[in-house]
Amino acid sequence: MPLKIGDSQSSRTLVPYVKYNAPKNLTLDTRADESTIEWSISVSGGVTYLIRFSQNFSKKHLHTSTKKLEHVQAEYDQLGHIKDDDARWAAAQEAADEKKFHRQLAHRSLNEQRCKTCNHPISDHPGSGKCMRKTQTLGFHGQMKNGKPVKSMKENECTCTAYLAPYAEKRRDQGKPTINPLLGATAQTNDLIWLDRIPRAHFEKVIQESLRKRYNAVVPNPGWDAKGEHIEWDFGPANRGCILKFATGTRLADAKAQGHSCVEVLITLDNKDATRPIFTVCHLDGKKTK
Ligand SMILES: [Zn+2]
Ligand SMILES: [Zn+2]
Repeated sequence: MPLKIGDSQSSRTLVPYVKYNAPKNLTLDTRADESTIEWSISVSGGVTYLIRFSQNFSKKHLHTSTKKLEHVQAEYDQLGHIKDDDARWAAAQEAADEKKFHRQLAHRSLNEQRCKTCNHPISDHPGSGKCMRKTQTLGFHGQMKNGKPVKSMKENECTCTAYLAPYAEKRRDQGKPTINPLLGATAQTNDLIWLDRIPRAHFEKVIQESLRKRYNAVVPNPGWDAKGEHIEWDFGPANRGCILKFATGTRLADAKAQGHSCVEVLITLDNKDATRPIFTVCHLDGKKTK
C-alpha cells in the first residue's frame, strides 16, 4: 500500500513542530529548532541511541509534503481534466509539493541571501559593492503648502557600502573544511529525503541498523572517526523515489522517476556512553545518492 501524504504512519511524524504567534493573532506551527530535535531509538540490551542534527541538516534534507490545504486546493482547481477525483487530489498534492520544494530551495539561493550589514539582498549590491536599495520615508521634509509644513515622501539611499556575507556564507568563501553548514547549498541543488514516502517503522529500522553495524565494527577499535563516519541510509527498492535530487526547474515527477532511495550521511559520535550513544547527523554527500 502506498503511503498517503500526511499519513501518521509515515516518517513525517518524526519532525517535531512548535507553536508560534503570527500576526493577526494566529497561532501557527513551525518546525522546532534543530538544536531541540532528538530522536531516541531503543536498541536491544538496554541500549538507546540518541540521534541529533546539526549544520542545518534537518532543514536542508528532511522534507515533508505540504499540508496547506489552500495550496493543494488551488492546484486541484486547475486539474479539471483529471476525471478520477482521487487521482486529481493526488496530482494536486504533488503539484503543491513541487512548489514547496522549489520555495525551500530558493531560500538557500544567493539571490535571497541578505547582507549582514543592511539586510538587503545581495542582488541590491552590484558586484558585491555599494547597496543600491532606495527606501521611501513619509515625513516633514521641508515642503510647504499654504504656509504650513506638509508631509512628503523622501527617497533614502542605503548607506551600506559593500555586501557583507552572512556568517555561514563567509565560512564557505574561506574554504573551511567539509563539515560546512552550506556546503553545496549555493550550487542550487539539494538532495531531499521525502519523509512522507517512507514508512516510519522502516525509516527507524534503517537508521538503527546502519548505526548499530558501524558502531559494532569500529568501537572500541579503531574508534568512531572524530570527523564523523560516512554511513549509508538505504531505504530499499520498495521506496524508490523517496530521495529527490532537486535543482532549479526540476519537475517532481522527473526527480521521482530517477528512483533514488539511498543517501550517504556523515555522523559524529558525541559521547562515550555505550548505553546511550549520541549520534549527530551533520552532512549529506549528494554525490553518493543512488
Ligand atoms: Zn548591505
Ligand atoms: Zn542595503
